[in-house]
Amino acid sequence: MRSLDPASLDEYRHAVPRAEVDVEHALNAVAPICEDVRTRGSVAVLDAGERFDAVRPEQLRVPVDTMARALEELDPEIRAGLEESVARLRATCEAELEQTVVTEVAPGARVERRIVPMQRVGLYVPGGLAPLVSTVVMNAVPAQVAGVPGIALASPPQAEFGGLPHPTILAACALLGIEEVYAAGGAQALAMFAYGTEDCAAVNLITGPGNIFVAAAKRYLQGTVAIDAEAGPTEIAIIADDTADPAYVAADLVSQAEHDPLAASVLITDSESLADAVDAALLDQVSAAKHAERIRTSLGGRQSATLLVRDLDQAVDVANAYAAEHLEIQTRDAETVSARIVNAGAVFVGAFTPVSLGDYAAGSNHVLPTAGCACHSSGLSVRAFCKNMHVVSYSAEALDEVGRKVVALAEAEDLPSHGAAVSIRLER
Ligand code: NAD
Repeated sequence: MRSLDPASLDEYRHAVPRAEVDVEHALNAVAPICEDVRTRGSVAVLDAGERFDAVRPEQLRVPVDTMARALEELDPEIRAGLEESVARLRATCEAELEQTVVTEVAPGARVERRIVPMQRVGLYVPGGLAPLVSTVVMNAVPAQVAGVPGIALASPPQAEFGGLPHPTILAACALLGIEEVYAAGGAQALAMFAYGTEDCAAVNLITGPGNIFVAAAKRYLQGTVAIDAEAGPTEIAIIADDTADPAYVAADLVSQAEHDPLAASVLITDSESLADAVDAALLDQVSAAKHAERIRTSLGGRQSATLLVRDLDQAVDVANAYAAEHLEIQTRDAETVSARIVNAGAVFVGAFTPVSLGDYAAGSNHVLPTAGCACHSSGLSVRAFCKNMHVVSYSAEALDEVGRKVVALAEAEDLPSHGAAVSIRLER
């Protein structure tokens, strides 16, 4: 348990807990992998799979009938869960899809903001420690609602399944009609998408979460390709006061620690007794968990902590400085506290909105920025798959009305040819 008393908001940013291994460290590991894929193409992707996933797939591209078979064999309860998740997220995406806006700035002077979908995207679905089938939904549904015509997806090859991605992931692809799927993981998959190889054409945008190497590869490849956000090892922060149920708080901290030894679970509270009760609940819940070892490493890492604050005002300042991927608010009047949050990937309000709900079927997206990136980046949504394009159209009269002002501005910039391109029209 740590008390926080920095003097300024900027000092909070340095005081909040962060993992020892960050994206900067991982860049050294991923840069050579990406360069290898750039120069040697698919062979380098397969070589890296053999090295990091302990299996060399026969081919990178997964045959469509393999996916259809996986869907036929999918447990009906899992299928029903996926269908619910798809329906809820699709409703949100359709409501959030932006519309074209036309502005008549003067008579005959028209500026249209046209929304156009990205033409080809690469979706990443993690599969190292857990086969994140839900991430197929979170990536694919907004891309489909945006109207993206070219959708490719990659997930790590699994030794247990002969070098194919996990069968539940393949079944989810078939359910959503995604036919271009590759057995590739980590930085090599992202480099394949960014540079293109003989098996996979380059994409315009890569989306999806992953471990620290996936987040680092996104940083390395950004510019060659667009990315949604750096969505690395999971984080949960919980603002809780003495009204919170310690068993709920502990369960939610454990749920995200289960993802990765580098995952972060942070409790921000003004109640020492609540902090003690959560600690006691953690002891029981961690021992009973299937992935107890991974959870212990994550909770014991320097990225996880209980932060004792003076009051809820300070809790809000700490949460905004930390900019958690997931922020839960389990306090009295949680809605009012939530209205003051400006930095978080997603906010979960009240005792009955656990992050796990958002992981699967809240209707929100679970691909969210980590490591403080929520200060400047957003979670994945239909917007990430769209571009804005201004389409400008002026009549002769509309140009005449503003032309002389344009010429004056061009002269002020010592760019007379700019002005001349307008004057030649005004003179006629
Ligand atoms: P993953 O698919 O992200 O990573 C597996 C890949 O990592 C492997 O294919 C391998 O190529 C690569 N790799 C492993 N060790 C490496 C090394 N030493 N050097 C270079 N590359 C290496 O699967 P995962 O490991 O299970 O991680 C999933 C991650 O996704 C977790 O950290 C989880 O918290 C995170 N996640 C984040 C969000 C989010 O939105 N932020 C959402 C869901 C999951």
